[in-house]
Amino acid sequence: MSLQPGPIKLIGFLCNWCSYAGADLAGVSRFQYDASIRIVRLPCSGRMDPLLALKALQDGADGVLISGCHPGDCHYSDGNYFARRRFAVVRSLMEFVGLDPRRLQMSWVSASEGKKWAEVVNEVAGAVTAARDEARAAGQTAAAPLPAASGDRVPPREDPELTAALRQTARDLLATGRVQALLGHRRRPGGRPGTALLVATGPEALEELVAFQGDAPNLACHLKSTVERHGTTALVGKGSDLLTAINLVRENQLQRQSIVLVGLGFPEPAAGGSESLRPGRVQEAVGLTQAADLVVGARPAAVPDETFADVAAIDALPRPARYAFWREQFGSCLRCYACRSACPSCYCKTCFADSRRPAWTSPAPSAESSLYFHLIRAYHLAGRCAGCRECQRVCPMQIPLLTLARKASQVVQELFGHRVSADPQVKNPLAAFAMDDQVDFIR
Ligand code: SF4
Ligand code: SF4
Repeated sequence: MSLQPGPIKLIGFLCNWCSYAGADLAGVSRFQYDASIRIVRLPCSGRMDPLLALKALQDGADGVLISGCHPGDCHYSDGNYFARRRFAVVRSLMEFVGLDPRRLQMSWVSASEGKKWAEVVNEVAGAVTAARDEARAAGQTAAAPLPAASGDRVPPREDPELTAALRQTARDLLATGRVQALLGHRRRPGGRPGTALLVATGPEALEELVAFQGDAPNLACHLKSTVERHGTTALVGKGSDLLTAINLVRENQLQRQSIVLVGLGFPEPAAGGSESLRPGRVQEAVGLTQAADLVVGARPAAVPDETFADVAAIDALPRPARYAFWREQFGSCLRCYACRSACPSCYCKTCFADSRRPAWTSPAPSAESSLYFHLIRAYHLAGRCAGCRECQRVCPMQIPLLTLARKASQVVQELFGHRVSADPQVKNPLAAFAMDDQVDFIR
């Protein structure tokens, strides 16, 4: 976004069948509208990848307008319904990182609505100009308070009692042939702090198996390769780790019958204690009560209510302060991609961030490019993140990545009623739509 006065840069992505024809009609009919818009024709608004919109904004566009057929009129029957969902999520995430959502607009314009097209462009140009001018006036440099819960980590600690029970369970699984391999944790060699990966295929290796409490690594990203190599595999982890494995089943990366999920129970925290409010605690409880095939240690008595208190602390900041906060956070991002590598839900062979033709984000670690990288990544994780905290645990700069991922979870919960689930049949909310999805942001 240019913070200089002068004409705005507005990019329109229009579906071929309705809105493009409507814009054509506006021209033929000599309707006057803001000349700042540059139009890109798409086969369908459903083909509009949010990457295109965010790339335009990142590269200097002040605003983006996506326009498609009215509900019920889509040439491909339902592409516009999918688009409606996607951009509702992207706009909410933009607001969270302090980017004005007025910069990303959507409209339904039919081939016969040349007049409406001219009105929509004028309204959008006005809104985008106001957003640009407000950002300029605020300077987007407000102080950036760091909410207290950001980037928190609990170092893994051995639990001897749990370890003995886990070893016995693992022995049974391997001895009975229920699994051919087990993924768990062991101590790091040389007495160094932290944990190391254990792939056990026989009883002797289980002498090294250790149950850790706290933020031990989520091993689900090794699950697919271990199943391919050894056959049915047991995954040992906290409840949210197990949910990431279910996500792999949901997305056809694994067969449910090829994995056995062994949950590590956790001690019940004192009522109202800070541990009970820790982000991800709800997902841990859901994983242990609904996803686990076996639980070693205590099962949670109940699934606590999700509060999203960490998200609310940032939501409460004014927009310029949110922007300043995230810019400061992502200004320290090294673009090492450890967060991406550690996340079991990030498994694309070629990540958009590695693409150079087109280059969706600059690989150079600037605050701006990193903010867009993480914004797009959060969008990709909406409805898929299981809150395992792994991205945040591995980040060398202690960036509160979990808060951004949890905002995406909150958005799909509030907009579409989607909650993290242990049922692999529950669809990803962005691979579905409903007739009563939010429409109030669409012109
Ligand atoms: S985004 Fe982070 S918290 Fe969510 S599944 Fe991936 S690693 Fe876990
Ligand atoms: S792990 Fe941290 S520093 Fe590395 S790319 Fe992710 S956010 Fe940036």
